[in-house]
Amino acid sequence: MTPLNDCEWSTRFLDETPGDAQSDGPSRQVPGACWSKVTPFQAPKPELRLWAKDVGAMLGLSRGDEDVFAGGRLTLGMAAYAQRYGGHQFGNWAGQLGDGRAITLGELKASQGTFELQLKGAGHTPYSRFADGKAVLRSSVREYLCSEAMHHLGVPTTRALSLCTTGESVMRDVLYNGNKALELGAVVCRVAPSFIRFGSFQIHAATGDQVTLRALVEHTVRHHFPTHSVANDAGIVAWANEVAESTALMIAHWMRVGFVHGVMNTDNMSIHGLTIDYGPYGWLEDYNPGWTPNTTDASNRRYRYAQQPQIGAWNLARWLESLIPLMEQPEQLEGVLDHYGEVFNEHHNRMWVAKLGLGSWVESDQKLVANLNSALQTIEIDMTIFFRLLSTLDAPTLDQLSPSFYEPIGVAEQPLNEWLEAWMIRTDGAPDQDAMKAANPKYVLRNWMAQLAIDDAEKGDYATCEALEQLLKAPYDEQPEMEADWFQRRPEWARNRVGCSMLSCSS
Ligand code: AMP
Ligand code: MG
Repeated sequence: MTPLNDCEWSTRFLDETPGDAQSDGPSRQVPGACWSKVTPFQAPKPELRLWAKDVGAMLGLSRGDEDVFAGGRLTLGMAAYAQRYGGHQFGNWAGQLGDGRAITLGELKASQGTFELQLKGAGHTPYSRFADGKAVLRSSVREYLCSEAMHHLGVPTTRALSLCTTGESVMRDVLYNGNKALELGAVVCRVAPSFIRFGSFQIHAATGDQVTLRALVEHTVRHHFPTHSVANDAGIVAWANEVAESTALMIAHWMRVGFVHGVMNTDNMSIHGLTIDYGPYGWLEDYNPGWTPNTTDASNRRYRYAQQPQIGAWNLARWLESLIPLMEQPEQLEGVLDHYGEVFNEHHNRMWVAKLGLGSWVESDQKLVANLNSALQTIEIDMTIFFRLLSTLDAPTLDQLSPSFYEPIGVAEQPLNEWLEAWMIRTDGAPDQDAMKAANPKYVLRNWMAQLAIDDAEKGDYATCEALEQLLKAPYDEQPEMEADWFQRRPEWARNRVGCSMLSCSS
């Protein structure tokens, strides 16, 4: 393990892309720039509360330095900056956004590669617009726990290294309804190969700044897609196809585990196909494909569970448009969208093969899956428990599945029985249960579980956070001693509680 002072850092992003001539300063437009140098804020009383050991090991860092990971001190070689990007928010072009409450400390050269370390909530940047650049403990616990849970579920994601409280109070209006309250401030240090997003490219295309656009594309491909070259149209298309593939894979995984991102704006789409920017995300409990946890999106439900694959395509289309200025024959990019659709379908089918233990995909499985989807919607049925119990069924009867039902079986009985029978015929009475157990997690970070961890953390007790972090390191294992607490349907108290069934972008 290397002490922070002896770490090696790269400044390649700052060296190879255009930046802001001014450091720090007020919220403003920064045309032509990919970044602005900034100084993280000095927390009044930084305290390190959570440290992800395996992420530390990946970086070669031992537990440490709350002053650094809360933002107050830069060590030798760090060069802190906020990234400039734009994006489409809820379908509309929003212009310049940028890291309003995220500050990159630098890119750490570790034995496993170079990783960007970024503090979320470390204060104002030129991209903060009217806001304070801070984050609260509630949303920081959610980001920390969920990114680690996703990683161990096998879902591509940014990671979390640490969570510090700042000792500062931050004013928030959780449901944007005029009920402001002070909350505890916190900072998460998150980690990824880079935090470059679809919107990072869009902003330069939107402003007609081809020089900066090209510099960013060349930087991104040189360091993050080294087998590619963007010297000509064919090269750009090949690279774009790879971005399409990783995006499709990520979303297929979300569908498999019942994750709803909640804010799939193009500024929240990583160029690496990593789940990024954990805000008002949620996990399906009742299997309702129309569900979104984000109250900010309640009227259109644009980012509902079942629409995520299509939104992935829409976002990809906006990103592809941003590459047009670099192409001689931009119509070649159209094939990339088709490619996304094909790759998504392949992953999605493969995921259903695993979830249902089918061995391989045949055309008629489409109907089997569709019938299950509609049977699951006849009454309130818990997605995680249903699929997990299905993976361990001794006989095709409904009794063993009943712990997943929120209400009496009623009208679901007939369609579910018929489906079980069809599934048994399809699998010759022997579904591949090992494959099923590896695809249907027993434990996910349900909204109420995160809320229990937050309630305790707000009282200064991080034991529930740590217990969940530990539990979710092995989400496909039985862990029988944990069942009574965590292999449970959503408790009644959580049905309508803010933070469990209702979340907003306020964080
Ligand atoms: P999000 O929906 O969390 O991805 O944020 C959208 C945009 O708002 C990004 O540009 C963020 O940096 C910015 N933002 C969100 N919350 C804050 C905050 N508390 N202070 C400054 N900027 C923020
Ligand atoms: Mg964001």
